[in-house]
Amino acid sequence: MIDTKFDIAYAAGRFDLTLNILDGNPQLFNLMGTESYFSLYKMLPEDDQKKLAAATAKCLETPGLSCDECVHITVDGKLCCYILTVSLSREGDAYDIKLLNVSNSENRVNELNRRIMTARDYIALTGTAVFAYYPDTKQFHLYYINQQQNVTIFDQNFHEWCTQMLEENRIAQDDLETFNAFCFSLCNAKSSQSYTFHGCIISDANMLERYRVSFKPKTYENGDSIVIGTWSIIHESTGDADTTILEDSYVDSLTGLLNKKAIMKYAEDALKGKNRERVALAIIDIDDFKSVNDNFGHMFGDKVIKAVAQVIKNAVGTNGVAGRIGGDEFFIVFEKFSDELEFRNVLRCIKTNVAIQYQEQMERKLSCSIGLARYGIGPFSTTYHDLFKIADRSLYLAKVKGKNRYIIYKPELHGDFNVQNDEDIINVSNTFYSETDINALHNMLTDLIVYGVDSIQEVLDFFAHVLTINRVSVFLSDSGAPAYTNTLAPDVPMADPSVLKNLKYLYLFTNNLLAVSSLQSLEFSTPEVHKILSETGVACFMQFILRDREGEAVGLISADVFDRSSAFPKIAMTLFADMCRVMNAVFIRDNLI
Ligand code: GH3
Ligand code: MG
Repeated sequence: MIDTKFDIAYAAGRFDLTLNILDGNPQLFNLMGTESYFSLYKMLPEDDQKKLAAATAKCLETPGLSCDECVHITVDGKLCCYILTVSLSREGDAYDIKLLNVSNSENRVNELNRRIMTARDYIALTGTAVFAYYPDTKQFHLYYINQQQNVTIFDQNFHEWCTQMLEENRIAQDDLETFNAFCFSLCNAKSSQSYTFHGCIISDANMLERYRVSFKPKTYENGDSIVIGTWSIIHESTGDADTTILEDSYVDSLTGLLNKKAIMKYAEDALKGKNRERVALAIIDIDDFKSVNDNFGHMFGDKVIKAVAQVIKNAVGTNGVAGRIGGDEFFIVFEKFSDELEFRNVLRCIKTNVAIQYQEQMERKLSCSIGLARYGIGPFSTTYHDLFKIADRSLYLAKVKGKNRYIIYKPELHGDFNVQNDEDIINVSNTFYSETDINALHNMLTDLIVYGVDSIQEVLDFFAHVLTINRVSVFLSDSGAPAYTNTLAPDVPMADPSVLKNLKYLYLFTNNLLAVSSLQSLEFSTPEVHKILSETGVACFMQFILRDREGEAVGLISADVFDRSSAFPKIAMTLFADMCRVMNAVFIRDNLI
């Protein structure tokens, strides 16, 4: 008999050994039309006839073998390409042949995708969570669909889940019987039967919630079986399925992505789950978004945020879940990838597609910066807290390096980000001058006094991070290389301590401190220094003169920015001066100058 399960995708039929049709499905008869002898052989162009003859000969020689050939058939005046699969029937007296039109495969795949997406949208609209139970592995996956993404609520061994629900007292006492009946039926579901249970469960917020759970087992053509089900929370007063529950508490209303609370919780859970080794967190921040708001208004800004959200959602697909965690800041929890290239592909896709959003309206292309941290890559990279910090620092680095880029954290490339800052790290990314960071820097200066120059590297790294300085160099004499510099200093010519020899230049300092927001301002006052510094490529800088016990200028600390000219806010200068004064005192105490 013909394999009817391929009805939709294939024209399929059985042919005698001379390739005349014996029987077939409607698609096959449609395809063959009025072909006089109903001979497949005669339908094909000469070259393809040879291929078919060779394939049938092989199948005849080796029963059980199935051969694929690419052949051409004219349909409605158009030459179409078909994958022809031939095998000898069990009795050995005929050929089973399938013909799949691949010329049309793009349309077919698109159509199938459209149907799947529509079905998923319908499910999302019902506000119902859905689940799959796999009898073979006993795995239970409960999730809901948000913006075409599966947001996992539980994905664990069913027995473990039941035990957990009971141990956590999630099942109301009166309801134990129903719950047990549900568990038993799910594990022993009979095919072609549907089951429904009504019960009560105690929610995260310690509220009693009524639920309705329905499920039915299915067995696929290849023998795999699965139980599929829905889980709805019932509205207390109306008795209807409550569709607002998911929306209100999980969704960001502007973009439809998960909101900050939900995506953060999702990340935490994912990092505790059994697939945590595949988890990676990415933070995405739109570059110079304030200027989009300033130039085109807040409403347009909102449209841009929505468009970027859509780009992110499409790029992530079913490989993770995306959320919005701030004004122009997004977050991705990746759960499927194991190879760096896979992350790169998604991040590159986001970066490229963001650049084409509203291209006509804006003079400058829209861009974004991304930081990504992977589970287990680098020291302290297993908890949500650790990974968020690393992703945040990587994002920061992407911004400092000139924006419009993504950085996938690698300890050997980027150093150890694990600075001493255990405060609410979420807020750190909102501003480069966060109070938490400033306090942390002051604490580090105290350490510097206690432990001496051993902790200087850490101080310089953190200082550069907090103030978005590209390089901080400490020179203990007026020539040669710096004694210390921050780890991530960019690879450009070093600031030059020989400027110390220029008296006119030294007069520009006040209390040993000089902040230059644009190099041009030195062009007339000290052209020699201007020349030296412009060769190093520095755009703006702060410098501090180190003096010995006698008050002689013996060294220099230079904080250089290469990628932008900008004025240093007062707080930056105060922090820099504080740091330099402490260092100067330590250098004198430890006889280094
Ligand atoms: P950077 O490249 O350093 O990220 O610069 P930026 O201008 O993007 O700065 P930042 O990310 O700190 O600023 C985000 C801005 O987003 C600040 C705020 O005015 C704006 N914003 C926050 N929420 C919304 C929103 O819901 N809609 C709109 N249109 N703008 C928002
Ligand atoms: Mg931004």
